Amino acid sequence: MTTANQRTFRWWPVDNGRHAIPGGLQPGASAETLCRHPVTMPAEKPTSLQWLWPTCSICYERARDYTHVALTEGYDGRCQP
Ligand SMILES: [Zn+2]
Repeated sequence: MTTANQRTFRWWPVDNGRHAIPGGLQPGASAETLCRHPVTMPAEKPTSLQWLWPTCSICYERARDYTHVALTEGYDGRCQP
């Protein structure tokens, strides 16, 4: 399931907000959220409290052009169609 040209993202809590980060980002690697906020993927999964942070509206808009990938099925409580 490797589609190199497909842009993917997943939701991730960063600095008190839920942002979209590149779907292929590995733990320890650095990148930018879709709203250009620098982010380093932590080794640990976010806490359930962090998932309650408000969704970044800029990431939300830009994520429309990306394909969502889940870290684990249903990890953020969302049901994907
Ligand atoms: Zn954002």
